Formats: sequence, structure tokens, C-alpha cells
Amino acid sequence: MVAPVIRIDAIRYARHERTAGNNFSQPVDDHDLPMPLDYFVWAIHREGVPPVIVDTGFGEQAAVARGRIITRPLVEGLRDAGIDHLSVEHVILTHLHYDHAGSLSLFPNAKFHVQDAELAWATSRHVCDAPSRAPFDGEPVAQLVRKLYADHVVFHDGDSEFAPGIGLRVCPGHTAGLQVVCCETARGTVVLASDAAHLYANVTRSLPFPIFIDEGEYRQAQKRALELAGGSLDHLIPGHDPLVLKCFPSENDIARVDLAPLVPIAQTQ
Ligand SMILES: [Zn+2]
Ligand SMILES: [Zn+2]
Repeated sequence: MVAPVIRIDAIRYARHERTAGNNFSQPVDDHDLPMPLDYFVWAIHREGVPPVIVDTGFGEQAAVARGRIITRPLVEGLRDAGIDHLSVEHVILTHLHYDHAGSLSLFPNAKFHVQDAELAWATSRHVCDAPSRAPFDGEPVAQLVRKLYADHVVFHDGDSEFAPGIGLRVCPGHTAGLQVVCCETARGTVVLASDAAHLYANVTRSLPFPIFIDEGEYRQAQKRALELAGGSLDHLIPGHDPLVLKCFPSENDIARVDLAPLVPIAQTQ
């Protein structure tokens, strides 16, 4: 059988230097060692149809406000991957944190796909609690509501088949309605885990990232993401791990995650 997904680009657009202590829900021995985060959007390519974009990244304003470094504006990253942002028809939002849903305006012609539970939470009384809302920015959520009223939002409630070769699977805990994206490629199912797994180390240490609405659910979500990847780290693409660019065939800050990594991920852990 021919695999429906022929290419997946992981396009790095930003970076944050930090130490390991910031990346785990419990204290770790190497807390003082550097463990930076990369920020990505992903493009899923199939034959004969425009690419599906996963997440929108954030722009300069959020980068300045939150001390992140934009390594290449997203429009340029997409262009370098051969994608015109204006022609994008479908954007899957894994969740609504600022770094995943912060640039909706780059895709004026797209439909945005989001879980019911995610938008419900981000417009609910939970937002009244400042620490809970900290990873969200209000303006992108407001933009999404405006897009909803303009028929540019498609809701998904739980697991669903998005298109041939592309499945959405819910992995809540980090947020209320986080969805990972399963892609059927020539090397098997590749899971774009987004923040179900920030880093491979979150999975291999069984310690989730320290931002969550339910830590127990988040642990289950990490496990589910790995199961969906057939238990193979090489088939699990974390949301923020610099190892993605290091280990997968990559050029110009774009990694081809549909291809097998040049260095097996298990060897890096
Ligand atoms: Zn997040
Ligand atoms: Zn994130």
C-alpha cells in the first residue's frame, strides 16, 4: 500500500535557552545543566493536495514579552519549505498555548481544527486564574473566536480521522484538549506529539513538563503518544526537542521527520 503522507517538515522558528530544572514536573539531578527548547510548526505533505499545517507558532511581540528568540520568522520558514502561507487551507491546532496558536493571522484562508474541550477551557472561568492562563495569550484566543463566527473553525470531539493518512488523537493533561497528529508514512506511523511530549527526556524519564492542568492525565498522555508511535522513540516527534534537528535529516532548520533519524533517538538518551 502506498503511504498517504509523503513528507513531514518540522520547521524550527524559535528557541529558548534554559536549564533542565525548568523542563520536568519534579526535581532532577541535572537541574543546572543547559536544556534549551526549540519551537516548531509542522507541515504534512500528501500527493495532489496542499500541505496541512500543524500549529501556527508565535510572532515577535510574544517573543519579546516572553524572552524567546525568533530564529527565523515563520513566513520565511514556510517559504523555505516551499509553502505559501496564504494558500494554506487547513491548520490543525494541537492546543491553544501562545507558542502553538499565536499566529493565526498568518493563515487568513485556512480553517482551524481544534478540540471542543480546548476552546471551551480557554474561554471558561479557568482563565480567571492567572497562573492557569499564563501559557495562553488572550488575543490569539479572541482571534480564534472571531474566526469561529466567520466559519473558519472546525471542532473535533475526541479521536477523529482528519484525512487519509492523518489522524487526530486526544492526549489531555498538559491542556484540556491537546490533540496529537498521527501520520501514515512509508516508515510507519509518525506521531507529531506537540506538547504531549516536549522533549524525548520527558518520555524516557517518565516526568512530564511542569505545565499541566492534570499531572496524572499528562503522564497517561505521554504514554499514549508513545504507544501511538508503536513504542518507538524514532516515530515520536516531540514538540520542543533540539534533538529533532540534530538527529533527523535536516537542512536550513527544517527536519524531515517522515524519514528515519540518522542517529537512533534511543542512543541519545
Ligand atoms: Zn503547551
Ligand atoms: Zn509548546
